Amino acid sequence: MIPGAGGVPAIYDDITGQLRPSVEGEVAQLYVCGVTPYDATHLGHARTYLAFDLLVRAWRDLGVSVRYAQGLTDVDDPLLERARAIGQDWQQLAASQTALYRSDMAALRVIPPDFYRGVVETVPAIVAAVEKMIDSGLAYRLGHDGPSMLGDVYADLSQDPDFGALSGLTEHTQDRLFAERGGDPDRPGKRHRLDPLLWRAARPGEPSWDGRTLGPGRPGWHIECSVISTNELDAPIDVLGGGSDLVFPHHEMSTSHARMLTGQAAPVRLTMHPGMLAYAGEKMSKSVGNLIFVADLLERGVSPAAIRLALISRHYREDWEWRGRELATAEARLARWRDAIGSVKPQGSSQGAIAEIRAAMANDLDTPAAIAAVDGWVNGAPLERERSPYAGADLRRAIDALLGIKLY
Ligand code: ZN
Repeated sequence: MIPGAGGVPAIYDDITGQLRPSVEGEVAQLYVCGVTPYDATHLGHARTYLAFDLLVRAWRDLGVSVRYAQGLTDVDDPLLERARAIGQDWQQLAASQTALYRSDMAALRVIPPDFYRGVVETVPAIVAAVEKMIDSGLAYRLGHDGPSMLGDVYADLSQDPDFGALSGLTEHTQDRLFAERGGDPDRPGKRHRLDPLLWRAARPGEPSWDGRTLGPGRPGWHIECSVISTNELDAPIDVLGGGSDLVFPHHEMSTSHARMLTGQAAPVRLTMHPGMLAYAGEKMSKSVGNLIFVADLLERGVSPAAIRLALISRHYREDWEWRGRELATAEARLARWRDAIGSVKPQGSSQGAIAEIRAAMANDLDTPAAIAAVDGWVNGAPLERERSPYAGADLRRAIDALLGIKLY
């Protein structure tokens, strides 16, 4: 046990633009969008999932029970394109990259979600959800061409008066981001430019599934997360999360679908969006090709604790540029921490430092302040502190439980 107790972690909510309590009752529910498994975990991914891991750790320290679901986009255009480009079966590619992602996360001591769901295994539930939306007049078919071609299905956003509230963007920006991030605003016949695809009818050369009354096809991106999150968790969920590039259209759309499916005005209490990591002048992304992979760093002998400490040395909401020297800084800091905290000699009390770490984490997961609290204890004058043989052990346990860094 770590002495003392933490407060309810408040996190910055994009919907209201305020710090809000991340949990209200005895159970905390979190849904985070997982990766599209076609390339190994890069540092930008790792940084995103570490932020949610810190939230889970703060909740556990608080004593609430955590229900954490993560969706995995194991069929998607970029995955299929990548498989074609390298001449590999898309399912094999998805399976191998999913395994690599999970082992990278385990190496970084990210506590795995309770429910890990892929899109492929969720197709029957997605089909049922889309059928329900059509029956309720919340979705419509496009490109219907007789019984052989039932057409694609789109959500009718005009049926959702709250659409747009999550991101708070102007219509012009919505339109631009929708086009940039996988949308098809110019497709003729759509009722509104932003209406998102729910079901894509089978095309030659593409994988497809039995869509019952929808006909063979595959799901659209946003409905996947709406169905996985509302199936695995009980709406309203406390926190919906993912990288900040998912705010629009993905989270705006998936929350709109969840409103339509659950009938709840607010199926998500608040959202949490870690910032983007840049490298060599641009956001770290597959399309730019400026990626640093966790697996490569581990293979080079970089310690997972140093990667973790380096990535949490900046606040999760900050956009920042990776320089590379962060790893050496983290290694040096870990050595100082191990040296000061790991020794068995009496070291005074660490209760003040532990309280500071907890307070920092409860304040929007302020890891720089938590790290500064440990540094302060490590650099402090021992004679000023009450002597106790347990001080180092208590602080070690707190750093392990709250920051996920094992010093022994
Ligand atoms: Zn998602």
